Amino acid sequence: MFRPVVASRLRGFGTTIFAEMSALAEATGSVNLGQGFPDYDGPQEVLDAAVTAIHDGLNQYPPGPGVTPLREAIATHQRRWYGMEVDPDTEVLVTAGATEAITAALLALCEPGDEVVVFEPTYDSYTAAISMAGAVPRFVPLSPAGDWDPADLTRAIGARTRLILLNTPHNPTGKVFSPEELAVVAEVASAADVLVVTDEVYEHLVFDGSHVPLAGLPGMAERTLTISSAGKTFSVTGWKIGWCAGPAALVGAVRTAKQFLTYVSGGPFQYAVATGLGLPDDTFLRQRDELRQRRDLLVSGLEELGAKVFVPAATYFATIDARSLGAPDGLEFCRRLPERCGVVAIPSQVFYQDRLVGAPYVRFAFCKRAEVLAEALDRLQKWGG
Ligand code: PMP
Ligand code: GLN
Repeated sequence: MFRPVVASRLRGFGTTIFAEMSALAEATGSVNLGQGFPDYDGPQEVLDAAVTAIHDGLNQYPPGPGVTPLREAIATHQRRWYGMEVDPDTEVLVTAGATEAITAALLALCEPGDEVVVFEPTYDSYTAAISMAGAVPRFVPLSPAGDWDPADLTRAIGARTRLILLNTPHNPTGKVFSPEELAVVAEVASAADVLVVTDEVYEHLVFDGSHVPLAGLPGMAERTLTISSAGKTFSVTGWKIGWCAGPAALVGAVRTAKQFLTYVSGGPFQYAVATGLGLPDDTFLRQRDELRQRRDLLVSGLEELGAKVFVPAATYFATIDARSLGAPDGLEFCRRLPERCGVVAIPSQVFYQDRLVGAPYVRFAFCKRAEVLAEALDRLQKWGG
């Protein structure tokens, strides 16, 4: 009897759009505004600290939960920026990027058949990780402009709901959930007595408004697992140092899953990220301000080309409605873009279960040097011509 090679829980996930589009950019010599990684380095102190750690011989397995200086730096970071208290010994776990923290959390917390409520568009690893955990996603629609209806959230919650997986600031929309919106999520989670896992990897890349961790809302610390990562904050996406923080029982559960996924990772980089988290506010704000300039450059350039742009309040990404450029389907647009213009972007429909809903939207990354963004905009002029 024919049996597919790939297990059913991984069927349909194939290769991530980011790998596919980066390979296409490479193959066609295109400017890559697809996968979200900076083409510039973060703070020199962080880079130097990694080199020093390597030279200091910190190159063997770090402890399972993460090196002490990093766990302490994460706890201090939560207090310094948000006034939240977590115990670095029992309530913090270092992971191989936020990706592992998310997957390990779902594996650790969900029984097969449990439901996980997520906003859609949904970062691509969520649906795969939910499936690997044997859980079932329930989607709450979020418009490209970041609007959503609390009634949809209430409707998505049911007897099998185990947790809400919330991404703020949100990829791909660039939305920052407001304190009022977070209060709605908190109220719904409390009323249904479900857990919340938050993905806050863009916490320091907020241009308009400010980032509020859900765990800081009254009564939420006890049911929320907060996930973040150094990749975006320090422009070191290749280091894959992430973490989660929250109640000891939740963090302990995640640790159980995590120790059999990677056990540990990135020893010397963990020390470097500890250094980074201890840098003065200025360093964080400078990175953010530079990125805001990159956003403004890309957004105004796209608007000049006639595109309808959803201006992101945060993150690395701006979304356009490709219909404004005469392209009804974003996937078709992204397939033709490298050849016609020498630019790569991401068709946002990959972030939707119902591809039709996301069909017109295209995501451009702006975490690139000004001259690269200018070159991309210049090339994009060929789209209409
Ligand atoms: N969550 C979101 C929303 C992301 O955009 C990304 C991409 N960097 C990740 C998680 C993954 O983070 P990491 O590279 O730390 O695994
Ligand atoms: N988070 C990055 C993005 O959204 C990509 C990370 C990855 O390649 N998995 O573009």
